[in-house]
Amino acid sequence: MSGVMPPRLQLGPKPHLGYTQSLIDRVADRRLDTAWLGACLTDAGTRTYVIGGELIVLKKGNNPHEPGFTPDEARALAPPTESVFLGLLDGAARFGTGITPANAEALKARDDLVVTDLRSIAIQGLVAPEHLPPLAEAKAMLHWHTRHRFCSNCGVKTEMVDAGWKRACPACKIEHFPRTDPVVIMLAVRGDRGLLGRSGRFGATMWSCLAGFVEPGEAMEDAVRRETQEEAGVKCGRVKYLYSQPWPFPMSLMNGCLAEALNDDLTMDKNELVDLRWFSKDECAAMLMRKHPDGLTTPPPVAIAHHIIRTWVENDSELF
Ligand SMILES: [Zn+2]
Repeated sequence: MSGVMPPRLQLGPKPHLGYTQSLIDRVADRRLDTAWLGACLTDAGTRTYVIGGELIVLKKGNNPHEPGFTPDEARALAPPTESVFLGLLDGAARFGTGITPANAEALKARDDLVVTDLRSIAIQGLVAPEHLPPLAEAKAMLHWHTRHRFCSNCGVKTEMVDAGWKRACPACKIEHFPRTDPVVIMLAVRGDRGLLGRSGRFGATMWSCLAGFVEPGEAMEDAVRRETQEEAGVKCGRVKYLYSQPWPFPMSLMNGCLAEALNDDLTMDKNELVDLRWFSKDECAAMLMRKHPDGLTTPPPVAIAHHIIRTWVENDSELF
């Protein structure tokens, strides 16, 4: 064994993690101020994001496009299903306006608009980066409202209150709050090798971290160990939390972790994955930088998996 450590791989300036570092001030105390919220609707600086299911409506511009509409412009596009207050951006109110997916689809015919999904917007940089976090906030909130119209306790139709941050049941008086679902996404590492898998939903050359929902009564670290065991047959010891990312598909919070793998042999869960193997740091570095000889890639920088793999590649065993 040589006592000389190999040089750390350094890949240059770090890309931004999509949907994070929101500039929105959520001013939660204003959610109950109906007079103030009403006045916002006629304020010249107020803008709203218009979303129909998976589709986001943008005003066509010279790249980037503009996702903010005045309340009047939004109403003219299609009848709103809901409107939620997101907070203040540069001191002006920001809302999210829901329309039906069918109405959003119909707006694709207009040549003054761009109507596409949020993944494409993020990956292709179709809007200025400061719009991604409030778009994620609006999309997740509007999705929650469309799926929680009836009281889960008594079945009666609920009413949206607090500018969208609550639904109240008029019959049994229970209050329902917007939900976000915790997911663990982890890179299991063993020495100089990291474990990546391929889902059948991926493009043919993309490999990523394993991931799964945290279950009730489960610590995040335990979910990392369970999911890695279930999907890959790999037991894990120490788990290190790195950072998180809101993932509005439809309303998750991705918790990025590294896990210390304790065995090499792999037993792939064929229901979850179509391929699974160990990758060296050098190979991962090439995949991150889109320089792999076989064209293999990690997910793009907008996704947390890219950052988890990169953190491991650029650091040594001090990570735990
Ligand atoms: Zn009820």
